Amino acid sequence: MNLACYLAGQPLAAGRTLAIRNPYSGETVGQVLMAAKPDTEAAIHHALQAPRNLSRLERHTILDRARQLLADRLETFAQLITAESGLCLRETRYEIGRSLDVLRFAAMEALRDDGQTFAADVSPNGRPRKIFTTRDPVACAAAITPFNHPLNQVTHKVAPALAAGTPLILKPSEKTPLTALRFAALLYEAGLPGPMLSVLVGPTPDVAELLVKDPRVEVVCFTGSVAVGKRLPALAGYKRLVLELGGNDPLIVLEDADLDVAAHLAAEGSFRNSGQRCTAVKRILVHTRIADAFIPRLVAKTAEYRCGNPADPETRVGTVIDEPAAIQLMAVLHEAIIDGARVLTGGKRRGALFEPTVVTEVPRHSRLIREETFGPIAPVVRTDDLDDAIALANDTPYGLSSGVVTQRLDHALACVKHLRCGTVNINEVPGFRTENSPFGGIKDSGLGIKEGVIEAVRNFSTVKTFSLPW
Ligand code: NAP
Repeated sequence: MNLACYLAGQPLAAGRTLAIRNPYSGETVGQVLMAAKPDTEAAIHHALQAPRNLSRLERHTILDRARQLLADRLETFAQLITAESGLCLRETRYEIGRSLDVLRFAAMEALRDDGQTFAADVSPNGRPRKIFTTRDPVACAAAITPFNHPLNQVTHKVAPALAAGTPLILKPSEKTPLTALRFAALLYEAGLPGPMLSVLVGPTPDVAELLVKDPRVEVVCFTGSVAVGKRLPALAGYKRLVLELGGNDPLIVLEDADLDVAAHLAAEGSFRNSGQRCTAVKRILVHTRIADAFIPRLVAKTAEYRCGNPADPETRVGTVIDEPAAIQLMAVLHEAIIDGARVLTGGKRRGALFEPTVVTEVPRHSRLIREETFGPIAPVVRTDDLDDAIALANDTPYGLSSGVVTQRLDHALACVKHLRCGTVNINEVPGFRTENSPFGGIKDSGLGIKEGVIEAVRNFSTVKTFSLPW
């Protein structure tokens, strides 16, 4: 498959090429003609010339047509994501279902005017006038996305921008650009005017950093690692930055938890998407009195997550993104073992395949607990009581999401109140959400500016206030 970056709807005619390899087989999946600095400059220029007069109905219709086209091509897209990311087909089909939701909700938002009306005769300083708000698209926005959901991360940026009427320049991950480029082609086919969307991959200083720096790009929405995300404010200067960064999410299992529910959620949270979700369960904090009953249940559940060829429909855990990522996971696991942790199941790798792994007796200072591990490892730590679990959950620079397993409302509400993170899901995995609900973290996981389709449409637009004397 030979694809080229899109400049305002047109494929680039020349450039250096980037080969994308299947992380499982090592075969070349495709080649991409990459962008260079002049293409980034040109994309900004075209975005600023993009039509300002797309009606709400036109935006709705494009997004809805794109949803229908994607639904028709679900299987082709799922196979492409599997080939370039190593995520198993079961996960990539699920991912497309989520992207269909994003397009559906964005099409709905395109029709919705959330303007407000205020009476102005409400204060001695007021007047007998009325004040209104309306939403304007921003002139030009950029989005930078990670590899772990090659389509859904892209849809979550592109669809809300288009719903808002904002021209967007997308810089997808260099590890998974093929899906993003195919999706852009589908949007143009659905009727999207070319200047509304460019998709560029290329050297970081010439594409990503240039987009972040250029003052004409009014909004930058970035999803990725803390290390990169924290560098962006210094580059961006005076502009709106939406940062969705890494996580180290706990699943807290309290003393009264239903242990079967807890084991199911721990396995789903730790192993889905090869453990490569920002909201994957990265630490399982279990009350010490139930730990010995919980751990065998989790080990038994783990056996259901068959690891292997991502293209096999029976596989439940495909590869991580590449072999260096799997080697890095193994290094962190070995450090924990040296510190006293015990591997109960898994713990082996072959190429980029990393077996679903359950580890117990993990010391609290271990890197496996303190840092974000992006792979299918489920580390279990014993806790003394609710306060200890909350303190341990909060004892991390991250603050993305969390899950709590309990049947007690008072304990659930204590967790909602005291956990320092963007989401608390009771009797659910941290990653549970709908595509339109507000989503995003605090502390190192983000600046508290939410995404999710409704919030993201707001991020890609500005509120204008006006008043009338009638
Ligand atoms: P990453 O290495 O930070 O890369 C993310 C994106 O940033 C890629 O497109 C990358 O381009 C680009 N980039 C790299 N250096 C840059 C720079 N100096 N300036 C601007 N952009 C730059 O993250 P990743 O490894 O792809 O993704 C995994 C991370 O994303 C994890 O930490 C995960 O938790 C996080 N994540 C967070 C959320 C959330 O919603 N909070 C969701 C999903 C993932 P290249 O591909 O060219 O390097």
